[in-house]
Amino acid sequence: MKALFKPFLVNEPHRDPALYIDLFGKKESFLIDLGDISALSTRKILRISRIFISHTHIDHFFGFDAILRTCLSKKEPVHIYGPKNIIKNVSGKLSGYTWNLIKEYPISIYVHEFYRNSLKTCFFSAKNNLKKTLVETKGVMDGILYEDHELRIKALVLDHKIPVLSFLLEEKKKLNVRKEVLAELDLTPGPWLNNLKQMTLLNTIPSEITVPCGGTTKIFDGNELVEKLMLIKEGEKILYVTDVCYSKRDAGKIKKFAKAPDILFCEAFFTSEDEKRAGERYHLTATQTRLIADGIGAKKLVIFHFSPRYKGNFKRIYKEAFAGNRD
Ligand SMILES: [Zn+2]
Ligand SMILES: [Zn+2]
Repeated sequence: MKALFKPFLVNEPHRDPALYIDLFGKKESFLIDLGDISALSTRKILRISRIFISHTHIDHFFGFDAILRTCLSKKEPVHIYGPKNIIKNVSGKLSGYTWNLIKEYPISIYVHEFYRNSLKTCFFSAKNNLKKTLVETKGVMDGILYEDHELRIKALVLDHKIPVLSFLLEEKKKLNVRKEVLAELDLTPGPWLNNLKQMTLLNTIPSEITVPCGGTTKIFDGNELVEKLMLIKEGEKILYVTDVCYSKRDAGKIKKFAKAPDILFCEAFFTSEDEKRAGERYHLTATQTRLIADGIGAKKLVIFHFSPRYKGNFKRIYKEAFAGNRD
């Protein structure tokens, strides 16, 4: 089975961050952070449907103009999710240009501002000269910003002396019916199989279940039947963490938020020699990055967002982040 997520960092790790996530089998992609995206082709930019911004320090947001320029002719709306003030920041960017001849362009942008328990959405459309309209404010459960039948993306607020968002992209469980077991038990396929899948995903399998079997019906133990009949594939999880101060509080929050992600994309801005500076700048050292990765049991660690002060000697950062058993 092919992986749903195909993530890659747009730049070398010392450049301004952007993580592109192609979605297998879909005609869209996601982007996390809007640093330097000059390496992305027009085709790749036009595929982006949702952009998730950790915070709007310039190194994470100046790529907005490149998105805007390329997406003027994009018919489908672009959704931007970010922390407190993202609506003000996008409005500010848009008001920096003159839009008197924009009306015939299709571009429209939804901006979603995330607070711990709510999401405030505003809409900007060329038809309305890219002026802001408030759409709604709605409640948010468990930080879920967006979900469909295959995936969900969640946000967690961390501390960068301003609120910064960490993002968890989760593929939902996949269930496939074992055809050979269906034949072996002489079960008749039908809508009951979909119901059984739904009940499995929602953890509502009844203790006894009646299913069509060889022209009549038969009663099975619900859990035993699911175990025999369904091939359950756990979904992939990708976690993105950047621009955070290492603290017990935030390390604990990350641990609760994302256990054992398949890939952790995490900043490693400083080496431990500069730990004091890292604390002052609300960034991680490579050792702290490793501690976070180990703490949550990340299966794979990818580091990025290195301070330019180590240019020519990035090996130091890798050595520190991957000390021990981590590869
Ligand atoms: Zn920052
Ligand atoms: Zn940064």
